[in-house]
Amino acid sequence: MTLKIGVIGLGNMGGGMAATLASKGFDVSGFDLSLAALEAAKGKGVKPVTDRNQLIKEADVLILSLPKAEHVEAVCFGKGGIVEFGSEGLVVVDTTTSTPEASRKISAALAKLGIGFIDAPVSGGPKGAATGTMSMVIGGADADLARVLPVLEAMSGTRVHIGPSGAGNVAKIANNMLCAAHLISTAEAVAMAAKAGVAPEKLLEGINAGSGRSAASQAMFPTWVLNGAYDSGFTMGLMRKDVGLASDLTASLDLDLPLSRAVAQLWKDSAATLADNEDFCAIAQRTDAALYGHKE
Ligand code: NAD
Repeated sequence: MTLKIGVIGLGNMGGGMAATLASKGFDVSGFDLSLAALEAAKGKGVKPVTDRNQLIKEADVLILSLPKAEHVEAVCFGKGGIVEFGSEGLVVVDTTTSTPEASRKISAALAKLGIGFIDAPVSGGPKGAATGTMSMVIGGADADLARVLPVLEAMSGTRVHIGPSGAGNVAKIANNMLCAAHLISTAEAVAMAAKAGVAPEKLLEGINAGSGRSAASQAMFPTWVLNGAYDSGFTMGLMRKDVGLASDLTASLDLDLPLSRAVAQLWKDSAATLADNEDFCAIAQRTDAALYGHKE
Protein backbone atom coordinates (compact mmCIF):
# COMPACT_ATOMS: atom_id res chain seq x y z
CA MET A 1 0.00 0.00 0.00
CA THR A 2 1.35 3.45 -0.93
CA LEU A 3 1.85 5.62 2.13
CA LYS A 4 -0.37 8.69 2.18
CA ILE A 5 1.75 11.68 3.06
CA GLY A 6 0.39 15.06 4.13
CA VAL A 7 2.64 18.12 4.23
CA ILE A 8 1.53 21.15 6.27
CA GLY A 9 3.51 24.27 5.33
CA LEU A 10 4.53 24.47 1.67
CA GLY A 11 7.00 27.37 1.88
CA ASN A 12 10.65 27.48 0.83
CA MET A 13 11.41 24.19 2.60
CA GLY A 14 8.07 22.34 2.82
CA GLY A 15 7.27 23.01 -0.86
CA GLY A 16 10.56 21.40 -1.91
CA MET A 17 10.12 18.43 0.46
CA ALA A 18 6.59 17.75 -0.84
CA ALA A 19 7.74 17.96 -4.46
CA THR A 20 10.70 15.65 -3.81
CA LEU A 21 8.46 13.00 -2.23
CA ALA A 22 5.90 13.28 -5.06
CA SER A 23 8.70 12.89 -7.64
CA LYS A 24 9.75 9.65 -5.87
CA GLY A 25 6.29 8.08 -6.18
CA PHE A 26 4.73 8.88 -2.79
CA ASP A 27 1.09 9.96 -2.64
CA VAL A 28 1.57 13.53 -1.37
CA SER A 29 -1.09 16.07 -0.40
CA GLY A 30 -0.21 19.50 0.90
CA PHE A 31 -1.85 22.29 2.89
CA ASP A 32 -0.76 25.90 3.39
CA LEU A 33 -2.54 29.06 4.48
CA SER A 34 -1.08 30.75 1.38
CA LEU A 35 -2.94 30.11 -1.87
CA ALA A 36 0.22 30.99 -3.83
CA ALA A 37 2.12 28.22 -2.00
CA LEU A 38 -0.70 25.73 -2.74
CA GLU A 39 -0.69 26.72 -6.41
CA ALA A 40 3.11 26.34 -6.67
CA ALA A 41 2.96 22.87 -5.07
CA LYS A 42 0.26 21.76 -7.52
CA GLY A 43 2.66 22.30 -10.42
CA LYS A 44 5.12 19.89 -8.79
CA GLY A 45 2.96 16.79 -8.43
CA VAL A 46 1.56 17.61 -4.97
CA LYS A 47 -2.22 17.46 -4.43
CA PRO A 48 -3.24 20.84 -2.98
CA VAL A 49 -5.77 20.50 -0.16
CA THR A 50 -7.81 23.34 1.31
CA ASP A 51 -9.50 21.16 3.97
CA ARG A 52 -6.79 20.66 6.59
CA ASN A 53 -8.96 18.35 8.73
CA GLN A 54 -9.31 15.94 5.82
CA LEU A 55 -5.56 15.97 5.20
CA ILE A 56 -4.85 15.16 8.86
CA LYS A 57 -7.54 12.42 8.98
CA GLU A 58 -6.28 10.58 5.90
CA ALA A 59 -2.51 10.82 6.33
CA ASP A 60 -0.25 7.91 7.35
CA VAL A 61 2.65 10.35 7.74
CA LEU A 62 2.29 14.08 8.36
CA ILE A 63 5.25 16.36 7.66
CA LEU A 64 5.25 19.80 9.24
CA SER A 65 7.39 22.66 7.87
CA LEU A 66 6.18 25.73 9.74
CA PRO A 67 7.94 28.95 10.80
CA LYS A 68 7.99 28.55 14.60
CA ALA A 69 7.11 26.33 17.57
CA GLU A 70 3.91 28.32 18.18
CA HIS A 71 2.64 27.37 14.68
CA VAL A 72 3.46 23.70 15.33
CA GLU A 73 1.62 23.78 18.67
CA ALA A 74 -1.40 25.41 17.01
CA VAL A 75 -1.53 22.73 14.30
CA CYS A 76 -1.26 19.98 16.94
CA PHE A 77 -3.45 21.30 19.76
CA GLY A 78 -5.65 23.92 18.05
CA LYS A 79 -9.19 23.48 16.78
CA GLY A 80 -9.32 20.95 13.96
CA GLY A 81 -5.69 19.98 14.64
CA ILE A 82 -3.82 16.72 14.93
CA VAL A 83 -5.07 15.90 18.44
CA GLU A 84 -8.65 16.21 17.18
CA PHE A 85 -8.32 14.56 13.75
CA GLY A 86 -5.15 12.42 13.69
CA SER A 87 -5.74 8.66 13.36
CA GLU A 88 -4.10 6.07 15.57
CA GLY A 89 -0.93 4.87 13.82
CA LEU A 90 -0.16 8.25 12.27
CA VAL A 91 3.45 9.49 12.63
CA VAL A 92 4.13 13.25 12.62
CA VAL A 93 7.55 14.39 11.38
CA ASP A 94 8.17 17.98 12.46
CA THR A 95 10.93 19.52 10.32
CA THR A 96 10.35 23.01 11.75
CA THR A 97 13.25 24.53 13.71
CA SER A 98 11.25 24.54 16.95
CA THR A 99 11.87 24.31 20.67
CA PRO A 100 12.83 21.10 22.50
CA GLU A 101 10.04 21.78 25.05
CA ALA A 102 7.36 22.03 22.35
CA SER A 103 8.59 18.77 20.78
CA ARG A 104 8.53 16.93 24.13
CA LYS A 105 5.09 18.27 25.04
CA ILE A 106 3.57 17.36 21.67
CA SER A 107 5.25 13.95 21.61
CA ALA A 108 3.84 13.07 25.05
CA ALA A 109 0.31 14.25 24.17
CA LEU A 110 0.22 12.41 20.83
CA ALA A 111 1.66 9.19 22.32
CA LYS A 112 -1.50 8.93 24.47
CA LEU A 113 -3.52 8.81 21.22
CA GLY A 114 -1.30 6.19 19.55
CA ILE A 115 0.25 8.86 17.28
CA GLY A 116 4.03 8.99 16.88
CA PHE A 117 6.03 12.23 16.75
CA ILE A 118 9.63 12.93 15.84
CA ASP A 119 11.43 16.28 15.74
CA ALA A 120 13.52 16.26 12.58
CA PRO A 121 14.78 19.78 11.87
CA VAL A 122 16.79 20.13 8.68
CA SER A 123 19.80 21.81 7.07
CA GLY A 124 20.53 22.32 3.41
CA GLY A 125 18.18 25.14 2.41
CA PRO A 126 15.49 25.14 -0.26
CA LYS A 127 17.90 23.52 -2.74
CA GLY A 128 18.48 20.61 -0.34
CA ALA A 129 14.70 20.24 0.16
CA ALA A 130 14.02 20.29 -3.59
CA THR A 131 16.72 17.71 -4.34
CA GLY A 132 16.23 15.38 -1.36
CA THR A 133 19.75 16.08 -0.08
CA MET A 134 18.99 17.87 3.22
CA SER A 135 20.49 16.67 6.47
CA MET A 136 18.26 15.92 9.48
CA VAL A 137 18.99 15.79 13.18
CA ILE A 138 16.34 13.64 14.80
CA GLY A 139 14.76 13.35 18.23
CA GLY A 140 12.26 10.65 19.09
CA ALA A 141 11.61 6.99 19.77
CA ASP A 142 13.31 4.28 17.69
CA ALA A 143 9.95 2.69 16.83
CA ASP A 144 8.48 5.94 15.44
CA LEU A 145 11.63 6.61 13.46
CA ALA A 146 11.64 3.09 12.00
CA ARG A 147 8.07 3.57 10.73
CA VAL A 148 8.94 6.68 8.71
CA LEU A 149 12.52 5.87 7.72
CA PRO A 150 11.73 5.17 4.01
CA VAL A 151 10.08 8.62 3.82
CA LEU A 152 13.00 10.34 5.55
CA GLU A 153 15.47 8.53 3.30
CA ALA A 154 13.60 9.79 0.25
CA MET A 155 13.68 13.42 1.40
CA SER A 156 17.16 13.72 2.91
CA GLY A 157 20.76 12.74 2.22
CA THR A 158 21.93 12.40 5.85
CA ARG A 159 20.08 11.58 9.06
CA VAL A 160 21.52 11.56 12.57
CA HIS A 161 19.32 10.16 15.34
CA ILE A 162 20.48 12.40 18.18
CA GLY A 163 18.38 11.04 21.04
CA PRO A 164 14.87 11.12 22.57
CA SER A 165 12.14 13.64 21.80
CA GLY A 166 13.48 17.22 21.73
CA ALA A 167 17.09 16.19 21.07
CA GLY A 168 16.75 16.97 17.36
CA ASN A 169 15.85 20.57 18.14
CA VAL A 170 18.65 20.89 20.73
CA ALA A 171 21.12 19.80 18.01
CA LYS A 172 19.57 22.10 15.39
CA ILE A 173 19.68 25.11 17.73
CA ALA A 174 23.36 24.37 18.50
CA ASN A 175 24.07 24.05 14.77
CA ASN A 176 22.43 27.38 13.92
CA MET A 177 24.14 29.09 16.87
CA LEU A 178 27.44 28.10 15.21
CA CYS A 179 26.24 29.13 11.75
CA ALA A 180 25.16 32.56 13.09
CA ALA A 181 28.63 33.05 14.62
CA HIS A 182 30.52 31.77 11.56
CA LEU A 183 28.75 34.22 9.24
CA ILE A 184 29.89 37.14 11.38
CA SER A 185 33.40 35.87 12.10
CA THR A 186 33.96 35.10 8.40
CA ALA A 187 32.69 38.57 7.44
CA GLU A 188 35.16 40.09 9.90
CA ALA A 189 38.11 37.96 8.69
CA VAL A 190 37.38 38.76 5.02
CA ALA A 191 37.05 42.51 5.80
CA MET A 192 40.32 42.52 7.74
CA ALA A 193 42.20 40.75 4.94
CA ALA A 194 40.66 43.01 2.26
CA LYS A 195 41.96 46.07 4.12
CA ALA A 196 45.36 44.37 4.31
CA GLY A 197 45.35 44.01 0.51
CA VAL A 198 44.11 40.41 0.07
CA ALA A 199 41.18 39.84 -2.32
CA PRO A 200 38.15 38.15 -0.64
CA GLU A 201 38.02 35.27 -3.14
CA LYS A 202 41.73 34.54 -2.64
CA LEU A 203 41.38 34.72 1.14
CA LEU A 204 38.48 32.20 1.08
CA GLU A 205 40.59 29.86 -1.03
CA GLY A 206 43.25 30.00 1.67
CA ILE A 207 40.83 29.66 4.60
CA ASN A 208 39.03 26.76 2.94
CA ALA A 209 42.33 24.90 2.68
CA GLY A 210 42.99 25.63 6.37
CA SER A 211 41.49 25.22 9.81
CA GLY A 212 39.33 28.38 9.77
CA ARG A 213 36.86 26.98 7.24
CA SER A 214 33.14 26.48 7.84
CA ALA A 215 29.94 26.31 5.79
CA ALA A 216 30.05 30.13 5.81
CA SER A 217 33.45 30.25 4.11
CA GLN A 218 32.93 27.19 1.90
CA ALA A 219 29.35 27.71 0.72
CA MET A 220 27.62 30.86 1.97
CA PHE A 221 30.20 33.53 1.09
CA PRO A 222 30.95 32.20 -2.43
CA THR A 223 27.29 31.48 -3.28
CA TRP A 224 25.33 34.28 -1.67
CA VAL A 225 27.56 37.04 -0.26
CA LEU A 226 30.56 37.99 -2.41
CA ASN A 227 28.52 37.96 -5.64
CA GLY A 228 25.82 40.11 -4.00
CA ALA A 229 23.13 37.50 -4.78
CA TYR A 230 21.64 37.24 -1.26
CA ASP A 231 19.10 34.67 -2.48
CA SER A 232 19.65 31.63 -0.22
CA GLY A 233 15.93 31.22 0.53
CA PHE A 234 16.51 31.52 4.30
CA THR A 235 15.35 34.79 5.77
CA MET A 236 16.85 37.12 8.33
CA GLY A 237 13.65 36.78 10.39
CA LEU A 238 13.97 32.98 10.64
CA MET A 239 17.68 33.14 11.54
CA ARG A 240 17.01 35.80 14.20
CA LYS A 241 14.36 33.39 15.54
CA ASP A 242 16.97 30.59 15.72
CA VAL A 243 19.52 32.83 17.44
CA GLY A 244 16.79 33.74 19.94
CA LEU A 245 16.09 30.03 20.52
CA ALA A 246 19.78 29.52 21.34
CA SER A 247 19.72 32.43 23.81
CA ASP A 248 16.56 31.07 25.44
CA LEU A 249 18.00 27.56 25.72
CA THR A 250 21.27 28.92 27.18
CA ALA A 251 19.36 30.99 29.76
CA SER A 252 17.07 28.08 30.68
CA LEU A 253 20.18 26.01 31.48
CA ASP A 254 21.60 28.78 33.65
CA LEU A 255 24.68 29.08 31.43
CA ASP A 256 26.69 32.18 30.62
CA LEU A 257 28.34 31.87 27.19
CA PRO A 258 30.06 35.21 26.44
CA LEU A 259 30.82 34.69 22.74
CA SER A 260 27.31 33.41 21.99
CA ARG A 261 25.89 36.34 23.96
CA ALA A 262 27.85 38.82 21.79
CA VAL A 263 26.77 37.05 18.58
CA ALA A 264 23.13 37.06 19.69
CA GLN A 265 23.32 40.80 20.40
CA LEU A 266 24.72 41.47 16.91
CA TRP A 267 21.88 39.53 15.29
CA LYS A 268 19.32 41.31 17.48
CA ASP A 269 20.77 44.75 16.65
CA SER A 270 20.72 43.92 12.94
CA ALA A 271 16.94 44.44 12.96
CA ALA A 272 17.67 48.20 12.83
CA THR A 273 18.86 47.95 9.20
CA LEU A 274 17.87 44.49 7.94
CA ALA A 275 14.19 43.60 7.62
CA ASP A 276 12.87 40.13 8.45
CA ASN A 277 12.32 39.30 4.77
CA GLU A 278 15.92 40.00 3.74
CA ASP A 279 18.37 37.13 3.19
CA PHE A 280 20.11 35.91 6.35
CA CYS A 281 23.55 36.26 4.69
CA ALA A 282 23.00 40.03 4.62
CA ILE A 283 24.26 40.03 8.24
CA ALA A 284 27.73 40.43 6.61
CA GLN A 285 26.68 43.96 5.59
CA ARG A 286 26.69 44.98 9.26
CA THR A 287 30.46 44.35 9.31
CA ASP A 288 31.35 46.25 6.12
CA ALA A 289 28.52 47.82 4.11
CA ALA A 290 30.73 48.75 1.14
CA LEU A 291 32.53 45.41 0.84
CA TYR A 292 29.36 43.33 1.13
CA GLY A 293 27.22 45.42 -1.18
CA HIS A 294 24.84 47.08 1.25
CA LYS A 295 22.39 49.22 -0.70
CA GLU A 296 21.03 52.21 1.18
P1 NAD B 1 8.59 29.83 4.83
O1 NAD B 1 8.14 31.07 5.51
O2 NAD B 1 9.11 29.91 3.43
O3 NAD B 1 7.42 28.74 4.85
C1 NAD B 1 6.55 28.52 5.92
C2 NAD B 1 5.18 28.22 5.33
O4 NAD B 1 4.29 27.86 6.39
C3 NAD B 1 4.55 29.42 4.59
O5 NAD B 1 4.20 29.03 3.28
C4 NAD B 1 3.33 29.76 5.45
O6 NAD B 1 2.24 30.25 4.68
C5 NAD B 1 3.01 28.41 6.07
N1 NAD B 1 2.23 28.46 7.29
C6 NAD B 1 2.40 29.26 8.39
N2 NAD B 1 1.50 28.94 9.34
C7 NAD B 1 0.75 27.91 8.84
C8 NAD B 1 -0.32 27.13 9.34
N3 NAD B 1 -0.83 27.34 10.56
N4 NAD B 1 -0.84 26.17 8.55
C9 NAD B 1 -0.33 25.94 7.31
N5 NAD B 1 0.69 26.65 6.77
C10 NAD B 1 1.21 27.61 7.54
O7 NAD B 1 9.69 29.19 5.79
P2 NAD B 1 10.83 28.14 5.39
O8 NAD B 1 12.04 28.88 4.98
O9 NAD B 1 10.25 27.11 4.51
O10 NAD B 1 11.14 27.53 6.84
C11 NAD B 1 10.30 26.55 7.46
C12 NAD B 1 11.02 26.04 8.71
O11 NAD B 1 12.26 25.42 8.31
C13 NAD B 1 11.41 27.13 9.71
O12 NAD B 1 11.28 26.65 11.01
C14 NAD B 1 12.87 27.43 9.37
O13 NAD B 1 13.57 27.97 10.49
C15 NAD B 1 13.36 26.06 8.97
N6 NAD B 1 14.50 26.02 8.04
C16 NAD B 1 14.55 26.83 6.95
C17 NAD B 1 15.65 26.75 6.08
C18 NAD B 1 15.76 27.62 4.85
O14 NAD B 1 16.86 27.64 4.25
N7 NAD B 1 14.71 28.31 4.41
C19 NAD B 1 16.67 25.83 6.33
C20 NAD B 1 16.58 25.00 7.45
C21 NAD B 1 15.49 25.10 8.31
